[in-house]
This record gives sequence, C-alpha cells and structure tokens, in this order.
Amino acid sequence: MNSPRVGFHTLGCRLNIFESDGLSNALSQGGIKTVSIDENPEIIIVNTCTVTNKADSKNRNIIRTAIKNNPGSQIWVTGCYAETDKSVIEKIPGITGVIGNQEKSNLPNLILQSLNLPHNNSKPYDRFSYSDVVPVNHTRAYLKIQDGCNRVCSYCKIPSARGKGVSRNKEDILNQVKFLQDNGIGEIILTGVNLGWYRNESGEKSFNSLLESILNVLEYSRLRLSSIEPSDVNKGLSTLLSHPRFCKYLHVPLQSGNSEILRKMKRSYTAETYRKRIEIVLQDHPGIFIGTDIIAGFPGETKEYFQDSVNLVRELGISKVHSFPFSIRKGTVAEGYSETVSKEEKKERVKELNTLSSTMLLQYFQKNIGLTLEGIVESDFKVLTDNYLKLNLLSDEDSKKLKVGQFISITPTNIEKIQNDLSMFGRLG
Ligand code: SF4
Repeated sequence: MNSPRVGFHTLGCRLNIFESDGLSNALSQGGIKTVSIDENPEIIIVNTCTVTNKADSKNRNIIRTAIKNNPGSQIWVTGCYAETDKSVIEKIPGITGVIGNQEKSNLPNLILQSLNLPHNNSKPYDRFSYSDVVPVNHTRAYLKIQDGCNRVCSYCKIPSARGKGVSRNKEDILNQVKFLQDNGIGEIILTGVNLGWYRNESGEKSFNSLLESILNVLEYSRLRLSSIEPSDVNKGLSTLLSHPRFCKYLHVPLQSGNSEILRKMKRSYTAETYRKRIEIVLQDHPGIFIGTDIIAGFPGETKEYFQDSVNLVRELGISKVHSFPFSIRKGTVAEGYSETVSKEEKKERVKELNTLSSTMLLQYFQKNIGLTLEGIVESDFKVLTDNYLKLNLLSDEDSKKLKVGQFISITPTNIEKIQNDLSMFGRLG
C-alpha cells in the first residue's frame, strides 16, 4: 500500500498556521506526507477558527465540502471551533474525530494509531510541543511563546477556546530561535494569544526581558511581533525596537477609539492611554508601521463614538486597519447587551474603515518612497520589508536574479490601484 497522505485546511490566525506546520511535521516523522488538499489525500485535517459567527459557518462549510469531495478519507477537525463547539461538529455525518486545542498536540498519535502505524500515546499533551519545525515553503517562521488569555474582554470567545494563559519555557524559546536562525529562516514571528502577558518560571511578567534575550542571539534572522495589546506597549519595548534585527512594525488592537465603548468592551485602557502609548513608540521610531483592529457597531456605539475611532486612527497615522462588524458570541458578557446598531449601519462603518485603511496605507507608502529598506524575498517573488510593505519588483530582470528567502535592499518607487487593491512597486538597491 502507498504511504497515506494528509492535507490541511487552516483557518484563522498565525497560531493556527504555526500549529498546522507542527502537525504536518509530526505526521511526516510517522511517514505521512503533507500534500495539497486538491490531491484527495487519505487524511484531511481542518484546523478551525472561531473568531466571529462568520468564521463558525465558514468552518462548517469547509468541513462539509471536504467530506463531500473526499469520500473514504478520514476527516479530523481541530482548533478553536473544535474546542468550543465540539458537539455541533460531531453531529456532521462523516467526521472521523473532533480534537480541541487542549489535545491538539496528540492528534498525530491518534491518526497514526487509527492507521495501525507506530505511535507514541504516552506523550503528555503539550501546547508548545511543536518545536523544531522548519516551515516548508515559508521564508518566515512563526514561533509560539504563549497561549491562552486571562482577560475577559466582553466580546471575546478566545479564553474559552484557548484557556488560561500559559508561557513556553524561556530556554526552549531561545533554543528554537537559534535552531530557526541556523536553518536560514529570515524572519521569526513571535505568536501567542496575548504575547505581552508572557510570564517567567516564577510567574512574573517578563516579556521585555524575553525579547532582550532573543535579540541578543539574533545575528541573521529578524524578529517580528504578531500582535501586542496596548497595555504592553511601553518605553522598554520602544527601546528594544531600536535593535537593528527587530522589525519596525507593531500591530496594536484598538477595538474602539471611544473610552465609553472601551469600558463596555472591558478593555484595560482608555482612548487617551492608547494614544499616549503609541506616541511613545512614534517619538522614538517615526517611520514605524502601526496596524490595528477595530470592531464596528459594538452595542452603544453612536455615530459620534464611531467617529472617535476614525479620528484616532487619522491622528496617530496608523497605517492599516482590520475592521470587523460586531457579532454576538455565545458565552461572552456582550451576549447580554442589546444591539443598538443595525446590520446595514455596521456594514457602512466597516466600509468607511476599509476606505480609511487604504488611504492611510497609501500615505504610509508615500512616506517610504525613495528610502532604502531591508526586504526578504517571499515564495511569490514579492518582497516583504522590515516595516511590512509588500513590494512587487519593477523589472522581471530583477526578479530573475533573486532567490526565495534572500535578504535584499529595496527602494519603494510607486503605487498602482489594481482591481481596488493597492499594489506597491520597488527596485533593487
Ligand atoms: S485580550 Fe481580550 S480580546 Fe484579546 S484574547 Fe484576551 S480576552 Fe480576547
């Protein structure tokens, strides 16, 4: 019999991408090769997300389509939706198994066992067990240092999907950073649900100290943070950002620019403190790329309150906004709030934020024209700069000279609008 093959459908955030890479690596050690989902593999893993109601229905559609298109294949469902809504998924006919986040690292063993292949069921579950993964076909590697969240933001379901905060051992993290660097990975992206919450063995907050230790071992790879909460943006972090291998990029979720709404969201800052924290960083690094998330139409958000979000983004020169319409998540505090913003109005607000985001990105790009930036060549031969601009090369001749994963110097030159998307171009040197 030919060796069985596995295919992945990965939804949601960078933690899931990291964990799918880890599962693929563990299965390959058991002789199961990862192939594209289009090749009708004998095993399919759907790694789900539950960030919004829309994500939940997307998960269900993907699961049903996978079952229909791959008769006879094993269909395993894991991830956040599998953790929070196991019983809903189990009702879908044709599912082989539903494995929540808490048991995710044991999934390769369960699959090997089901195929009567050698496996090791005595391994304890470990949310950081996906070590030593050199990602296939990626020039950048995600490194998970933390999982779970102890906060209770009133709209968020993540604490029930990923549990309380846990931190990975510092020595393991540093060994993994060295391993990735030695294997030529150009960019290491630290991921976690709430990175700045990171605790040391004694349970003390020690995110900045961890960053300092990581930066001390970086000579070749560069470091990027996936996302950081406003309350963890401080002078210490800003000082560390001066390190030449620390990407000049921060994603700091705002959620609302109005303090009354932030209070109802149970966020731990006001609009003013968010402003002050971002200003600390902007003062030290005027060229930094700052991205954010905003929820449009939270209960109680009037037109004026919404404009506070728009104004704060403009005033701080935030370069990119990911916006989401508010949707009630079962089991959250906000489930008890009465909706005050209609579906149509939420749609309008998201549209306004998307337009704002394009304008801000254009402005940021224009500020960078003519500068020499460090870029890394991605597998699609686009170049990702340290400050998060994705550039197309102006000439095909330039592309032919490059190798995937290579660091280059690149100068942004111009921008074009192609089918409503902004495409940025640059030249070598
Ligand atoms: S900080 Fe708030 S929004 Fe972020 S994961 Fe924790 S509870 Fe959710």
